[in-house]
Amino acid sequence: MTGLTIRTLDASTKALAPDTIAALRGKLRGAVALPGEDGYDAARSIWNAMIDRRPGFVVRCLGAADVIDAVKLARDEKLLLAVRSGGHSIAGNAVCEGGLLIDLSLMKSVRVDPASRTARVEPGATLADFDKEAQAFALAAPLGINSTTGVAGLTLGGGFGWTTRKFGLTIDNLISADVVTADAELVHASDEENQDLFWALRGGGGNFGVVTSFEFRLHPLGPEVLSGLVVHPLDEAGELLSRFCHIAKEAPDELTTWVVMRKAPPLPFLPAEWHGKEVLIFAACYSGDMQEGEKATKALRGLGRPIADVISPHPFTAWQAAFDALLMPGARNYWKSHDFTDLPDVAIKVILDAVRALPSPECEVFIAHVGGAMARVAPNATAWSNRNAHFIMNAHTRWRDKAEDAACVAWARQLFEATAPFASGSVYVNFMPEDENDRVANAYGGNYRRLAEVKRRYDPQNLFRMNQNIRPTK
Ligand SMILES: Cc1cc2nc3c(=O)[nH]c(=O)nc-3n(C[C@H](O)[C@H](O)[C@H](O)COP(=O)(O)OP(=O)(O)OC[C@H]3O[C@@H](n4cnc5c(N)ncnc54)[C@H](O)[C@@H]3O)c2cc1C
Repeated sequence: MTGLTIRTLDASTKALAPDTIAALRGKLRGAVALPGEDGYDAARSIWNAMIDRRPGFVVRCLGAADVIDAVKLARDEKLLLAVRSGGHSIAGNAVCEGGLLIDLSLMKSVRVDPASRTARVEPGATLADFDKEAQAFALAAPLGINSTTGVAGLTLGGGFGWTTRKFGLTIDNLISADVVTADAELVHASDEENQDLFWALRGGGGNFGVVTSFEFRLHPLGPEVLSGLVVHPLDEAGELLSRFCHIAKEAPDELTTWVVMRKAPPLPFLPAEWHGKEVLIFAACYSGDMQEGEKATKALRGLGRPIADVISPHPFTAWQAAFDALLMPGARNYWKSHDFTDLPDVAIKVILDAVRALPSPECEVFIAHVGGAMARVAPNATAWSNRNAHFIMNAHTRWRDKAEDAACVAWARQLFEATAPFASGSVYVNFMPEDENDRVANAYGGNYRRLAEVKRRYDPQNLFRMNQNIRPTK
């Protein structure tokens, strides 16, 4: 029997002897999946249907020991390596073509300690898995807005969502992590141990090793939160957004409002004549007392004449999944994102012009309101440097038919270019598509040099390169 042909780090290929694969199979608690074998297609299929890559083989890990064996093989044989957890990487970096894929999606354990208000989370856990366990004790960590997203990739990029203004970024609540480094050693990283690595992990993406366990700090929240949508016709959006920006500036940390502009989905509370028409949606969540929330959302709910206002108490876990139906896997997606410290009227006008020309019914522009607790952490305290961003815009282009690729990508790029003069220059690495590697240094601003230095110490050969790549200092 001939060996498996696998892509290597120097962009060529090599044959792995059958004995090598057999020996690996013999060591693992998990499994090796070759093309055509059980689990191979599940592991290589990710959220963004634009990405259709076929790794040479997959190691489906069940614990840190499996990860060590897989990294050891990749290091010794100099194999191209990708790491997949929840599979939501928009850039598609969770899967490589022809190389070794480390699949962590089966490692889903979440253990909450209600007494110390902490949680230990394995990398295959989704936000829904984490919320389900933490909410059993009315506790939460700040996570994102789509419950099928992986905790691992989200955390390593920084992580923000409905409770970030109150509790900080996801990384601001990371206490420690277990990491398999490029030397195939398991190390613990925290404020006390391997401090540089811990600093870099918090925002530096998957550049520094494979995280096999995360330890988080939790906060009391829920089980219900005041949350929901206020929907307006797009025609009035210019005035509404301008006034919203003032409201956002004055908002307490507990209040987070995201703006979504898109063609209205057939939501049951929207009159049928609005389905498919362009709307502006304020999606709001108050992370605190209900009555205080009623007061805090008054100005937002007083804006204009909404088509619908469905802000009311909802279970936190349900609100965390409220957008899932619009974000199912299987569609083609291309994102472009900017950070803003402010959104002047002229920028709003540019954005609205783009929304009036959405290239497909599932495309949207969303603007997340951040700041609050996130902004009170020093920009050099973690790898995530863009602490002064007040709004994060994402041109979320989403469509079904490959024939529409060019038009949809062009629309996103055009909006990106047109809004660039108003943007701060930084960007959230987890919102960058695969063709933006030249933007990585800007994404990290003043932290990039230190990141490149930490990369040199922990991964001088750049084994972990399927990510928004930080090149090791020479
Ligand atoms: C529908 C949708 C909604 C989103 N909403 C938000 C949001 O509200 N807030 C937000 O902050 N982000 C959001 N994101 C972005 C999200 O944070 C990233 O896509 C993130 O990478 C997802 O993590 P994952 O584990 O699913 O990723 P994967 O695709 O599995 O991994 C992404 C990359 O992270 C690295 N990686 C993953 N796991 C590990 C690990 N254990 N060790 C080392 N490296 C690893 C690898 O480089 C990998 O290529 C959203 C994405 C999508 C698709």
